[in-house]
Amino acid sequence: MQNQNVAYDSKVEGEIIVTQADAVINWIRKHSVWPMPMGLACCAIELMAAGASRFDISRFGMEVMRFSPRQADCMIVAGTVTYKMAEVVRRIYDQMAEPKWVVAMGACASTGGMYRSYATLQGVDRIVPVDVYISGCPPRPEALLDAMIKLQDKIGRERAVKNLIPEKADSAELAGAGKES
Ligand code: SF4
Repeated sequence: MQNQNVAYDSKVEGEIIVTQADAVINWIRKHSVWPMPMGLACCAIELMAAGASRFDISRFGMEVMRFSPRQADCMIVAGTVTYKMAEVVRRIYDQMAEPKWVVAMGACASTGGMYRSYATLQGVDRIVPVDVYISGCPPRPEALLDAMIKLQDKIGRERAVKNLIPEKADSAELAGAGKES
């Protein structure tokens, strides 16, 4: 938690810390990211290594890899996304609850990599919104950890409370729909 988000005066408030709802919600979220390991090719081996003792992704509270989209909030796309798999990747992303994030791990997931072919999607950001890209073929586990730290920074800057309130545009659309009927 950054210092500007916390106010504490022991003489006035005793044991009380004053902060913002955004700061608390984001602090909880960024330290409890549960990855959905979307391992599609060789990059997935590096993803597995990040979970093992040498690199130990649990230092960041992210060791709870979940193969159920209902229990995960960060899809790590590790590997080549073929058109055959693209629909499945999108469906799994849709099944994940909000808020959710996506990391494109490696050249293939980010851009299609060396596979400039009719069978390969040229970047997973064509079907899902990507928050962090990782370069390399394959990227090392340290690169994945670096990306996850960047994702934590991004989560820390989100307007968590504002995002809970429906957009004005949606409200206007709903109002308009009501008038038509
Ligand atoms: S970026 Fe390289 S290591 Fe990763 S899936 Fe593509 S070919 Fe394999």
